[in-house]
Amino acid sequence: MSSFSRIAVILRDGQPGQTVDVRGWVRTKRESKGEFAFLEVNDGSCFGNLQLIVDGNVPDYAALMKEIGTGASIHAVGEVKESPGKGQRIEVHVRSLRVLGTADPATYPLQKKGHSFEFLREKAHLRARTNSLGAVARVRNAICFAIHEFYQSRGFLYVHTPVITTSDCEGAGQLFQVTTLDLARLAALKQEQGKPVEIDYGQDFFGKKAGLTVSGQLEGETYACALGDIYTFGPTFRAENSNTTRHLSEFWMVEPEMAFYELDDNMQLAEDFVKFVIRAVLEKCPDDLKFFNERIEPTLLASLENIVSHEFIRLTYTEAVDILEKSGRTFEYPIAWGKDLQSEHERYLTEEHFKQPVILTDYPRAIKSFYMRCNADGKTVRAMDVLVPRIGEIIGGSQREERYDVLVDRMRESHLNPDDYWWYLELRKYGTVPHSGFGLGLERTVQLITGMQNIRDCIPFPRTPKSADF
Ligand code: ATP
Ligand code: MN
Repeated sequence: MSSFSRIAVILRDGQPGQTVDVRGWVRTKRESKGEFAFLEVNDGSCFGNLQLIVDGNVPDYAALMKEIGTGASIHAVGEVKESPGKGQRIEVHVRSLRVLGTADPATYPLQKKGHSFEFLREKAHLRARTNSLGAVARVRNAICFAIHEFYQSRGFLYVHTPVITTSDCEGAGQLFQVTTLDLARLAALKQEQGKPVEIDYGQDFFGKKAGLTVSGQLEGETYACALGDIYTFGPTFRAENSNTTRHLSEFWMVEPEMAFYELDDNMQLAEDFVKFVIRAVLEKCPDDLKFFNERIEPTLLASLENIVSHEFIRLTYTEAVDILEKSGRTFEYPIAWGKDLQSEHERYLTEEHFKQPVILTDYPRAIKSFYMRCNADGKTVRAMDVLVPRIGEIIGGSQREERYDVLVDRMRESHLNPDDYWWYLELRKYGTVPHSGFGLGLERTVQLITGMQNIRDCIPFPRTPKSADF
C-alpha cells in the first residue's frame, strides 16, 4: 500500500474531516491577492481534478506560489472539506505543500488548453497529461481488460504468436523486413561492381528472408486446431503507404480462432465481442466518455447505445453492392461487383442506409485471401467484415478453407507456392476440422469508443509513413 491516495479514490470516497496525502501535477493555479490560492491537481487516475485550497498561512506560501504553475508536480497534505463551489463535491484544505518539480512557464508546451491534436502529436511525451489523451489512455486500458475478460470468461486460451515471421508471401509488399545484413556494405559493393548485388538471404540472421508479422492468424490456426478456442492479442505491422485517419504502420490486433466454428458462429461471436467491449467501457469510464461526447463527438454516446441495443444487420457483399448501386450517390470510387469496398461505401451503409453496424459476408474470391473457404458458386468466399458507423471496417474474418485440395488450388490461384505453406497445409492433412476466426483492430476500436477522429491519437506513440519519433 502506498502512503498516499490516488485522486480517483479521494474524489469518490473522500469524507469531510479526513486527512489526505495527494501527489500530482498542477493543471491550473488561481491566486487571490496573496491570501489564498486554488490549485486544480490531476494525477491521471481519473478525468476529474482535485481542488486544493492553499491558505496564505501555509508555510513558505509566497515562495511556493512563485514556484508553482501549470505542469508543476506537487505533494500536498490536507483535510477534505465539502466544497461550496459548483462542479465538485469536495475540496482539500492544504496544511503542508512542497514542490517536487517546477515547470517553467516560458517553455512548458502545455500552458493553455485547447491545443490541436496535430500539435500534441509533436509533444507525444507530454500529451498524456492533457484531458483528451489521458482519457484515451484510460479507455484503451479498459478496452484491453474487457478483451481479455470476454475471451477468458468463455474459456479461450491466450496464445502468443511470433512477431518475426518468415512466411513472407501473405501480405507481401506490406512486410517490414527484418535483417542483420549490412545494407551500407551492400550499397558500397554495388557501387564497386557497377551492377546490382545478388543478396544471399542464406547469410542473413534467420537463413532466409524475414519480416514483422502482418497477422498472427496462420500460427493461431495451428493452436485452434489442437486446443479449440484461442485468441492472440499483440502488435501487428503493415508497411502499407496509406496515409489515412484509420491506418497505422504498427497497431494491435485481437485474433480469435475457433475450431468447429462455421461462419454463423463466427459472426455471432464477433457481434457479442464488440457489444461486450462497448458495454464494459460505458460502465467503467463514464466520465471519460462524457467528456468525449461533450467535446469530441456529439453523437458518441447515442451511437454506442445504438450499437449495443440492436442486432447487427447481416447481408452479403452482393446485396451490399446492389444497395450502393441503387443509392443514387456519386462515390469518389464508383462501386461495381468485384471491387473492394472503400471506406466511403462502408460508411454509407452503416451511417446512412442502415444506421447501425452491418456484417457483410461472401465477398468475391478474387479480392480476398487464399485461406477463406470457397463457396459452391465458384465466385465467392466465406468472408465476413464487421462495419461500424464513423469507422467502416473494424473486423475482418472468415471461415477458413479446411479442404486440402481446394486450399492448394486457391494458393496457386493467388500465385503462392504451396511448399512455403507446408505446415499450414498439414493442418488440413491430419485431422482437419471446420474452423473460423477474425481480427479486430484495437486502435479502430479505441476510435469507435472515444469518437477520436484520427487513429494516431488512439495509440501512445503512433508509427506511420515517415513518422516514428519518440
Ligand atoms: P483495411 O481494408 O481497412 O485497410 P484490412 O482489410 O487490410 O483493413 P484486415 O487484414 O482484415 O484489414 O485486418 C483486420 C483488422 O485489423 C481490420 O478490420 C482493422 O480493424 C485492423 N487493421 C488493419 N489494418 C490496419 C492498420 N493499418 N492500422 C490499424 N488497424 C488496422
Ligand atoms: Mn479486412
